[in-house]
Amino acid sequence: MDKLLYVPNPLLRQKADKIQSVGIKEKEIAKKMMQIMIKAPGVGLAANQIGILKQIVTIFFVDQETNKETQYTLFNPNIVSYSQEKIIMEEGCLSLPEQFADIERPQNIVVEYLDENNKQITKEVSGVESRILQHEIDHLSGKLFVDYLSSLKRNIMIKKVQKFLKKKNNER
Ligand SMILES: [Zn+2]
Repeated sequence: MDKLLYVPNPLLRQKADKIQSVGIKEKEIAKKMMQIMIKAPGVGLAANQIGILKQIVTIFFVDQETNKETQYTLFNPNIVSYSQEKIIMEEGCLSLPEQFADIERPQNIVVEYLDENNKQITKEVSGVESRILQHEIDHLSGKLFVDYLSSLKRNIMIKKVQKFLKKKNNER
């Protein structure tokens, strides 16, 4: 569980299971995920991406305007409502290195999750945070951002990832 998985790894297409409660094991996984995500570097990570089929998401980003850091873990996250307003933003994914695309999604969401202390949290999020969480929560049901594109574009990106990884391995 200490390596990032890339497309087309089948674990990225599987559904992650709900956790019963947040214990030592779950906290360890979250800690590991934070390390891998920050090192990558990435702004979000779902447990599927390191081969663990549990509903855990980590997030870390810095607000460009205020310089404020946001970093936390969500266990069993669930989006309970979406705003009518949609917005287009560019997305990338640690499991699809060097691939980016403009994706349209709802602007704001309300998300429910368990925090590290098993406390049920309900939170309304917007902006980058909303975008990251929608992307990561998709991962937990085996969905990738390229699924919002045409199959032609999707396949090109997946092929480009293979090329990129091949090149990277050859350089080692
Ligand atoms: Zn991703």
